[in-house]
Amino acid sequence: MDSFNPDDVAVRSGHFIGGEFVDVGERRIEVARPSDGVVYASVPFADAEMVDRAVENAWQAFRTSGWARMAPRERARILRRFADLVDADAPTLGRLEALGSTRPIAQAIGWDVPFTAEGIRFYAEFADKLGGDVAATDHDHLGMTIAEPYGVIGAIAPWNFPLVMASWKIAPALAAGNAVVLKPSEMTPFSVLRLAELAVQAGVPAGIFNVIQGDGRVTGDELVRHPRISKVTFTGSTRTGASIMAACANSGTKPVTLELGGKSPQIVFADAPRLDDVARRIAGAITGNAGQVCVAGSRLLVERSLAEPLAERIGRIFAESKAGATWAAGTTLSPIISAPQAARIEAIVGRTLEAGATLRYGGVRADGGAHGAFYTPTLLTDVTARSEAVREEVFGPVLTLQTFDTEEEALALAQHPEYGLAAGVHTADLGRALRFVRGLEAGTVWVNRYGRTSDFMIPTGGYKRSGIGKDLGRQAYEANLRFKSVLIDLRV
Ligand code: NAD
Repeated sequence: MDSFNPDDVAVRSGHFIGGEFVDVGERRIEVARPSDGVVYASVPFADAEMVDRAVENAWQAFRTSGWARMAPRERARILRRFADLVDADAPTLGRLEALGSTRPIAQAIGWDVPFTAEGIRFYAEFADKLGGDVAATDHDHLGMTIAEPYGVIGAIAPWNFPLVMASWKIAPALAAGNAVVLKPSEMTPFSVLRLAELAVQAGVPAGIFNVIQGDGRVTGDELVRHPRISKVTFTGSTRTGASIMAACANSGTKPVTLELGGKSPQIVFADAPRLDDVARRIAGAITGNAGQVCVAGSRLLVERSLAEPLAERIGRIFAESKAGATWAAGTTLSPIISAPQAARIEAIVGRTLEAGATLRYGGVRADGGAHGAFYTPTLLTDVTARSEAVREEVFGPVLTLQTFDTEEEALALAQHPEYGLAAGVHTADLGRALRFVRGLEAGTVWVNRYGRTSDFMIPTGGYKRSGIGKDLGRQAYEANLRFKSVLIDLRV
């Protein structure tokens, strides 16, 4: 994919309600490009009244548009067409994504857009697969469960993969027959607007997929608490997730799916095959999107004899990464989303070093050729479980290295007191790998790899404070349905 000029990208702003852009109201949020900090557009701010308008619109569309009642295969056909339009729109969607987020253009077009389209296709295929069950009853009764959509789902997404994270919310919700009101992050509001526009072009009835713009404290909170929202699905930080859960409890005991933060370990045993490949996996899991990934493999736990050769290799790979604007074709190291976030990364690294850690690589701002915030891939050694960079989700390209001598020690180090999102185990010993699969408190365990494939059937979600419920897989589809039990007395 070629580089592009960020000033050439046309950006359409607004909320998207009832199938139309709505750009009204005096209060606005300015939106900056992470690559150079330039404010390139603004979005309107949805106050309580605008949230209400979007949710009421969605509710009316849910009741009257026929989306929930149509033959499921027809819904699937419309969603497949939606996915095709997303694929065909890759040049526009990819540029919008790269312009306003931390996703380099090559990755936005090569992965984010097709992955979004394929996720929609995956859930389209579910539309007629799970209708409910007939229960085993005596002959005088017929008992069954009927799967029904909730109505209007409130979806709240983060900034780190704006399209993909939003698609994980909207695709199963729509396929199950719901209407959705999505609030993207105020830092990355535009690519999902285009997504909503494409949905309508594909035949999703107006009002079934709406987008509202605004912050979390007012707009997000109003959305969560709105009485017509029957279920909430959220991806973001653990702290926000907790307050959303409380808001759900206090506004109608709404069910909620929470995909939250992580501090995921990568455990490497001395028998791990092909050390060069292992090093590449470890480095890739912390440099991808500059570490701004919920499942970033941020804690390296390595068998002592391997620590030095592995650290050296990781350092060489770190040095290859090319920081640059997201619109430059050769960029491999993304900018940090904002200056305050870069300062936070710097502060955590600084305090960890002051507390006795050693800076092995990186630890400084990188020059991305633009004026945004870039941070070099960083390796910290001589850390303990109490070090700040080991405890806290940094959300930057910062890897800590701890050594172990025994399997028991490795497992104990791997368990984080709060988080349990993902983990990677690298070993040639199958029994040991499976002992870790069993023992690790994590929602996902990768063995001799790190990161997702495009096997959408494998769900993602956290243990402990990393979340509740799953995105992807059959589970995410079922989570967008509620089940009605029916018992019919046949003797009457
Ligand atoms: P965030 O929690 O600050 O914000 C996420 C979204 O919630 C934004 O749209 C924001 O406007 C909204 N929000 C904030 N406060 C709110 C409130 N009180 N009520 C309703 N909405 C509110 O998170 P972020 O900085 O955008 O994203 C980074 C975090 O997301 C990291 O912790 C990361 O681990 C996590 N994340 C998790 C997954 C996963 O699948 N587990 C995936 C991606 C990101």
